[in-house]
This record gives sequence, structure tokens and C-alpha cells, in this order.
Amino acid sequence: MKKLLIVMLLGGWASVTSAQTDRWQQRVKYDMNINFDATTHRFTGTQKLAYSNNSPDTLHKVFYHLYFNAFQPGSQMDVRSRTIKDPDARVMDRISKLSSTEIGYQKINSLQHNGKPVKYEVVGTILEVTLTEPLMPRTQHTFDMEFEAQVPQQIRRSGRFNKEGIDYSMAQWYPKMSEYDYEGWHANPYIAREFYGVWGDYDVKINMDASYVIAATGYLQNPDKIGHGYSKKNVTHKKGERLTWHFVAPNVHDFVWAADPDYKHDVVKVDNDLDLHFFYQTDTLADNWKQMQPYAVKCFQIMNQRFGRYPYKQYSVIQGGDGGMEYPMATLITSHTSFRGLVSVTVHESIHSWFQMVLGTNESKYPWMDEGFTTYAQNEVMAQLFPSRTNPHQATYAAYRSLVQSGLEEPLTTHSDHYNTNRAYSVASYVKGSVFLHQLSYIIGQETFDRGMKRYYNEWRYKHPNPTDLKRIMEKESGLELDWYWENWVGTTKTIDYAVKQVAPAGTNTNVTLERIGLMPMPLDVVVTYKDGTQENFYIPLEIMRGEKTEGAYQKRTLLTDWGWTYPEYSFTINRSPSDITRIVIDPTQRLADMEYENNVYPAAPTVSPRLQGEKVQ
Ligand SMILES: [Zn+2]
Repeated sequence: MKKLLIVMLLGGWASVTSAQTDRWQQRVKYDMNINFDATTHRFTGTQKLAYSNNSPDTLHKVFYHLYFNAFQPGSQMDVRSRTIKDPDARVMDRISKLSSTEIGYQKINSLQHNGKPVKYEVVGTILEVTLTEPLMPRTQHTFDMEFEAQVPQQIRRSGRFNKEGIDYSMAQWYPKMSEYDYEGWHANPYIAREFYGVWGDYDVKINMDASYVIAATGYLQNPDKIGHGYSKKNVTHKKGERLTWHFVAPNVHDFVWAADPDYKHDVVKVDNDLDLHFFYQTDTLADNWKQMQPYAVKCFQIMNQRFGRYPYKQYSVIQGGDGGMEYPMATLITSHTSFRGLVSVTVHESIHSWFQMVLGTNESKYPWMDEGFTTYAQNEVMAQLFPSRTNPHQATYAAYRSLVQSGLEEPLTTHSDHYNTNRAYSVASYVKGSVFLHQLSYIIGQETFDRGMKRYYNEWRYKHPNPTDLKRIMEKESGLELDWYWENWVGTTKTIDYAVKQVAPAGTNTNVTLERIGLMPMPLDVVVTYKDGTQENFYIPLEIMRGEKTEGAYQKRTLLTDWGWTYPEYSFTINRSPSDITRIVIDPTQRLADMEYENNVYPAAPTVSPRLQGEKVQ
């Protein structure tokens, strides 16, 4: 009976928690027909958008992104780039110098809601649509649009003729419905940074000169008509012929494509359910593209095993863009770099498939949950692809410390467009977000953390999780209270610094006094080495955690009493004399982002720094 009651209680709890994570999502279904003219770099398009308002709200307006409009002199992106202290070298003042045939634009020629024309206004990179008939809660609607666009000279991510000679990098190229979620509309103007979108199904037909090879999000529906590496049949095309490429992409929140007449196209299997496609030009670096392929395969295998299964049957690594940018089922990367650099950017962008494409955190608001978590996993995967004795997260920690010391740091709660400098944005998002996860594995224990990350992926896929959603997963998995960690690390720029303050005799024993110098509290692992070479692990939980971590490698330990965070000092006794102790180290695994590691060690050894020089982060 008692057992049955417990089972019933647990069952009840489980249904309550799953109800909490069941957040409503808007839904889109795009049908687009694109007619592309490669002589003028312009295209016309029709778009039928089936839009489901699954929210409990009545919507009187809707908003579309018109990203190409950012590539015009005087746009917000242009002005931002010319006024920010440390502009992106790829943008600088280049937008201000574009001529009328080099700018980007998306012009709306007509728009109908359920078959009736609606009022709309283009405001920079946003199309504001005022509806005659509102979208009632849980109703379906159709928007029919005719539009035309000019592909800008390549400046940032999208554009024509990138620096490696790829003709068209077609990212953020179509009018795209903004996301409306439990926090409201997210019609952010395009300033050059992150994206957020609605999941749905894309059916895209692109009509273009047959000499081009197209790489895209989605599965090609007519490979035997197209050829170009998609079909085993020998397909030839006449000079001047045009082809209609038909792609279908299910359950994605964006659609990218690229086109070049000189693409080589390889297909490599990860397993029976997943093919990797590679599109690259056959230049002097083509060998790197061949050699990189087994590394990409291994990356997907490691990620599937550690973080959860990649859900699509295809992923394309496409030469294009201006560095590396993630899209659903594909990435655009540049490749004129070292072999390791090429693998690293491919690994990084592929890993976004988990954090940005499937989980889909609002990258504009929480770039650290996407770029940071991707960087963390990238460090872990790269360490398996290129084994080395160096701690794979060392360089990330060094970059964080360097930003803190620069005085430019802003809290992770800052919107990605609103950071004062590009440096503060990129170190916060990529680096501090990565340290966030590695440090979390220290707080709750590696195995608990690994289970939590899988659970996060499984419970929050296709639901746009926010920081609190992740916190609740990790609290449930660890049994610890973790709000203090989120509040301090995400909400503030407080730093961590602990020190061994004093080691003194106490009768035949030793009294050790530790000091919290930084404002941010942490639980502590302390390892003591004795003269006979043996070691003893001590563990000091933080009182507000309301418990202790479980960690295989650190489970044989002496559990000390909790440290209440307001106390600047903490003392404990070792049942040995000071002469028996050769070394005391706080945080032996160096997962704490401790600002001053030297004072973590007793006796102080100022000439020997335990910090190794790591490699540069991509
Ligand atoms: Zn990234």
C-alpha cells in the first residue's frame, strides 16, 4: 500500500511538472516560389503562409522581418556599425558605401490576410501589418504575399560574391514572420546579431539558371531532374536551361540556401538515418574539405550520444557567408583557414543544431544559452577529435578573466543587440555562457550535469526554453537549489575569488582558514596532500544549495559543514599537524572561474602558475 501510494504521488508530481514545460507555440507553414535572375541579382517571390495562432491571445497586428533592408546606407545596422567603439571588421562603414545596385532590399508588392488586402508599413527591417480582422486565440490564417528582392553585395552573412568567390549566400532572404511567444512579440530590427523564429514546415521552389548548384535547408524533392550530386543518375543540362529546385524542410524555424556554379558536392553517411552534405569549391583547399568529413561525422556521433539525437536526416556544410553561421539543417562557413580551423568552425556550427535549431532559445535575449552552450560542447567535442593533455576549457576561462579585467563586462541579461561593445557581447555570449555550463558541472557534479543536459534537450525540444526552464531541470536532476547561481552569474557581473588565508597549528591538529574575496559565493572542493603522498578531498557545500553534489571522481571525500554565503571566512580542522601537510588546493579541477588562482594554493608558489596557455578560441 505504502509503495503504491508513493508511486501514485510520484505519478502525480510527474504530470504536474510536464504540464509546466508544455508551453504553447505558434506555427508556420511557408510555400514559396522564387524566380531568381543571376544577371541582376534580383528575384521575385510569392509566399503563402499558413499561420496558426496557438496562443491564448487575440492579435491585432503581425510583424515580418525584412532582413535585407539592413544593407542600405543609413540603416540601423549601418549606423550602429559606424558608431560602436569596436565595429565588426566585416561591416565597418561598408554599408554606407553601397550603390543602388549593390544594396539589399525586400519590397512587398501585395499582402492579403485570408484573401483580403491588409494595411502594412515597412519600417526599416520590419514589416508592420495592421489586421482588419484580428487573429483570435487558437485559429488558423493564411497570408498571401508577393515580393521582390535584391541580393546585397556580401557584407554580413547574406549576400553575393563572398570573399571566397561563392556567388550567392542566401540567409535571411525572405519576408519572415516574427516570433510571438509567452513574452509577446519579438520584432527586433536587424542590427547584425542573433535570430529567433517560429517552427514550421517550409516548401520552397527556386527557379534558376541550370548552371548553378544549390545547397539548402531541407530535402530536395526532385533529385533526378536536378542532378548536381543529388542523384546517382547522370543528369545533364543544356546551356541556358532553367531548373526549378524543390526543397521541403519539416519542423524548422528558418530556411537558408546558397548557390554557386563551381560547387563540388559530396555526401557522407553518419549512419542509416543521417547524411552529411558538403558543398565547396575545388580550389587549393579542397583537400581540407575532404579530410574534414570524417571529423564532422564523428562530431555528430559524439553529440548524438552526449546530448541527444539530431532529429533530421540531413545536414549540409556549405562554403559561403562570412565566417560561420548556423541555420536549420545547414551552415554557411568560410574555409580559407587552417585544417583545424575548418574542423573547429564546422563542429561549432553543427552543434548549433542542438541548442539553436531544436531547443531554439531566444538567441536575441539569451545568446549565452545558444552561443555559450555551443562553445562548451565544441570544446568537449574538439578535445575528443584532437586529444591533448591541455584542459579544453582553459582558453575560454582566460578570455572571461580578460574581459572582467578590461572593465567592459555587462551582465548576461543584456539583449544581444544592446551590449555597448562587440567584445562585451561576444565574450559574454560565447565565453561566459560556456563557463556557465562547465562551472555548473562543478556545482552539481559531472554525471548529474550530463543527465541534466540530456533531460533539458528531451523535455524542451521545440519549445524555446528560457534560463529558468534550464534551472528547474538541473534542480530536479540534482536535488539542489540553484537560483543563487543563476542570479549571480547571469544577472550580475560579480566575480569569484577564494583563497587559502591561513594554515596554523591547533594542538596536534591543523586549522585551515579560507577566505571569500570575490562577491560571488561558491561551494568548494579542497584537496589536501600529505607528506606521505596521500590525498584527502574536503567538500564545503554552500548553505543556500540545501544539499551536496554527487560526483563520482570526488565522492570519496570528507564532508564539512555548509558555508553561509555572507561569511567572508570559513575555518576547518585537519586531524594532522601542519608539518604533515605539503599542499592545499581549492578547486583542483579548475572548473571555478576563480579570478586569482595563485591564492587557491598553499603554500603560495608565486613563480609557478598552474594556468597553462590554452589555444585561441574560435
Ligand atoms: Zn555560434
